[in-house]
Amino acid sequence: MIKVVKFGGSSLASAEQFKKVGEIIRAEESRRYVVPSAPGKRSPGDTKVTDMLYKCYDIAVKGNDFTTEFDGIKQRYNEIISGLGLDMSLEKEFEIIRSCFIGKAGRDYAASRGEYLNGKILAAYLKYDFIDAADVIFFTEQGTFDAEKTGKILGERLAHTDCAVIPGFYGSMPNDTIKTFSRGGSDVTGSIVASACNADLYENWTDVSGFLIADPRIIKDPEPITTITYKELRELAYMGAGVLHEDSIFPVRKAGIPINIKNTNAPDDPGTMIVESTSQKPRFTITGIAGKTGFAVINIEKDMMNAELGFGRRVLEVLEKNGISFEHMPSGIDTMSIIVHQEEFEKKEQEILAGLHRNVHPDTIDIETDLALIAVVGRGMKSTRGTAGRIFAALAHSHINVKMIDQGSSELNIIIGVDEKDFAAATKCIYDIFVTFQL
Ligand code: ASP
Repeated sequence: MIKVVKFGGSSLASAEQFKKVGEIIRAEESRRYVVPSAPGKRSPGDTKVTDMLYKCYDIAVKGNDFTTEFDGIKQRYNEIISGLGLDMSLEKEFEIIRSCFIGKAGRDYAASRGEYLNGKILAAYLKYDFIDAADVIFFTEQGTFDAEKTGKILGERLAHTDCAVIPGFYGSMPNDTIKTFSRGGSDVTGSIVASACNADLYENWTDVSGFLIADPRIIKDPEPITTITYKELRELAYMGAGVLHEDSIFPVRKAGIPINIKNTNAPDDPGTMIVESTSQKPRFTITGIAGKTGFAVINIEKDMMNAELGFGRRVLEVLEKNGISFEHMPSGIDTMSIIVHQEEFEKKEQEILAGLHRNVHPDTIDIETDLALIAVVGRGMKSTRGTAGRIFAALAHSHINVKMIDQGSSELNIIIGVDEKDFAAATKCIYDIFVTFQL
């Protein structure tokens, strides 16, 4: 049994947190490959080391003195080393990094040192090998992840290594410079490592006990999600339910490896299992609810629209030309509504309206703003009759007007559009019928 374990920044923010991580890893021999983030926040007002590095580098490239900022970073690591009682020094590494900053080695290089140095400490603490991600994770000339080269070289290296720490977040370009994934990218490294060694499980350790059915800022103490499929997760994540980096799904999903989201501060909590498919019956009809505000609707009306060939294409062409993607497009016989991100749309509003008039000669166009979309997601909906009926009855009882409905043919989700002012109340009443009252 092989488990790849990734620890987020808050799990490795201090010596105290390192000790918890050490205990977790030592509790199971299968936890052989460890992917650390850089030290994160120790308390809500604290700064992540990654942000300290970006700031420090930005000062350095301007040719200004960055000693104070650099010392702050050194101090974070030295505190961890002394708190763990380790007999090691990173002074030589700090000196190399300092001269690379002066030599303008790049912002990605700067940020990557957060994970690199934390990996060095963690490897010494666990007595595991240290594998520099620059030697095993590769990007193409175009800057996209090179799955083929990485799979081959990393796979081979791991096959000959019993236990290792591989820092998250970065890899190398064909010209040997360092490149990082986007923020939160250590999740992606963990997934790549899991896939390269054919792990049985990818454990992603963070500071929450997995996904919750609804946003805790709206629902007090929502129930956790024990098992979720990749497809369900994608729907919820798109609507803002974020614990994992979006790109971290693909490598493990392709290899059929499940992910277990776990809490470093509560290691006995089961967390959330993310799986390809499951015969496990969901606890509730719905798996989760997530939503976002900030949408606008463009309503287009034209008599005999249904008979006009290519109408939809001409409408979408206008959006495409203006670089605007649409979210949903519910339509009637003579009406079509297009839901877009308000902020993007506002910047191009007049060009889009003029383009639509030119392209499709509508009778009227009107715009509604401040719409919220709520996704009610669940594999259990397919086998349950009346899910939509219950949602709309509950919303009606709470005097919430539904402005749009979209249910995909997969029956995995129902999207509901409501006024932004009704967003929290709508989420709450949907949560209540399915979870609180289990109807
Ligand atoms: N340290 C990086 C960040 O703060 C990457 C990560 O933590 O996954 O974004």
